[in-house]
Amino acid sequence: MTVNQERPNEHLAKEIVKRVMSVELCHADTHGGVDYLSPDGSVAVEVTAVTEGRRNGVRDALRRSVTKGVKDVELQSCWGVMVDDLQDDMKTFIQRVQPALATLESAGETYFVDQPAHVHVLQNGELSAAYRPLLEAGVIRAGSVPHKVNPDDPGHSHRINVSLVSGGSVTDSNDAVARLLTSLKEKPDNAKKLAESGADSRHLFVWVDGNTSGSITRTLTGNAPEYVTGWGAPSIDPMLDEAITHLWVVHQGTRRGWLWNGETWRELSDL
Ligand SMILES: [Zn+2]
Repeated sequence: MTVNQERPNEHLAKEIVKRVMSVELCHADTHGGVDYLSPDGSVAVEVTAVTEGRRNGVRDALRRSVTKGVKDVELQSCWGVMVDDLQDDMKTFIQRVQPALATLESAGETYFVDQPAHVHVLQNGELSAAYRPLLEAGVIRAGSVPHKVNPDDPGHSHRINVSLVSGGSVTDSNDAVARLLTSLKEKPDNAKKLAESGADSRHLFVWVDGNTSGSITRTLTGNAPEYVTGWGAPSIDPMLDEAITHLWVVHQGTRRGWLWNGETWRELSDL
C-alpha cells in the first residue's frame, strides 16, 4: 500500500486552520483517510480545491454533447450561444438547447437574453416554452448567425457554437458560495472521509485560485476598498452535507477567505 505524502496546499491549509482555530493537527491521510486530525481525534480537516479541473470537465461534457448531436431537429441558421463555464449537465446541453432554438426560429426570433427571458417566463409569455429550456440549460445569450452556405461545403448543417464564459452573472458572496457548493458535489469523497473520521468538528477546507471560475472568486479578489465596503462574507446558511460542520473557502492568491462555523460566517484576511 502506498503512503500518501502531505502536499504543499494541504500543509498551508493545515497551518491556517491551526492558527485560526488554535488547534494542533497531525497529518492523518497516510492511507486514504481524512487529511488531518487533532491529537485527541475531535477535529478533522479535509483539504480540497475548486480550480481549472472543473472547467475542463465542463468542456469535456460539452464535447460529448456536440459529438452526439441532435437527430430530428434541424436549424435554419447557425447560432452562437454563451453559457457559464461552470454550468452543470453539459453532457446533454446541445440536446436540450437545439430544439429550443429551432422553436425560436419558427417563431421568427433571432436572439435570446437571459434576464428579459426570465421575466417573460414569469409572465407566462408566448415564447416561454422555448425560453424555459434555454434558461434551465444556463444559456446567458444566444443569437442566430445568418451566413451563406459555403459552396465548398454544400452539405453544411447549421450548428450551435458554444462559448463558455467565466463568471456569468454572480451577484454576491451568497451566489458565489452556492456555485462553489455545486462544484463540490462532484467530490463526494470529501464528505465521506470526514464522516468516517469520527471527529466532532469536521472541517472542509476549500482552496480557490486564479483558475477558479470568476463567478466564485470575484468576491475574494476585488481590491481592498471594494472588498471592505462591497462584498463581505456570505450571509445565508450553506446547504452542507451533514458530515461537514465547518467550511473554509480561501483564495490561494489573495489569502482572503470565509469561514462557516456551523452557525455564522466570518471573513478571514491576511491568512
Ligand atoms: Zn450554418
